[in-house]
Amino acid sequence: MKLKKLTRDIDFMDKVEELSGQSLNSCIRCGTCAAGCPFVEDMEILPERVFKYITLGEFEKVLEHNTMWICAACYTCSVRCPRDIDIAKIMEAVRQVILRANIDMVDVDEVDNIEELPQLAVVGCFRKETG
Ligand code: SF4
Ligand code: SF4
Repeated sequence: MKLKKLTRDIDFMDKVEELSGQSLNSCIRCGTCAAGCPFVEDMEILPERVFKYITLGEFEKVLEHNTMWICAACYTCSVRCPRDIDIAKIMEAVRQVILRANIDMVDVDEVDNIEELPQLAVVGCFRKETG
């Protein structure tokens, strides 16, 4: 899967915090969320790294990796976070920001087998194209 070049400038962190109701700066990078995530092996970067990139304003680095699309919103991390951060909500907010900004992350011409795509990416694409 190839990622298209992203040029859109959006206030990523504010939007993610507004949609999720969570404070990204509360994260102490303890790694508890990744340690218990059943899908972490398929994630290109850990959730805490996603949060770090967002707080640094480096949203293109977030978009270059698949973590938010691999997250299955199982809430395992959310109940284990020592800072009471609802990580699953943040992941959903990241997906929402991307979809609302109408950012194309997948070149459909490069997709040979739809079953190879993360399920949430397929659902997100469907919502974008039909919403
Ligand atoms: S468990 Fe919570 S505090 Fe620890 S890295 Fe994950 S989000 Fe940050
Ligand atoms: S909600 Fe997402 S990031 Fe958290 S444990 Fe489940 S799959 Fe992993």
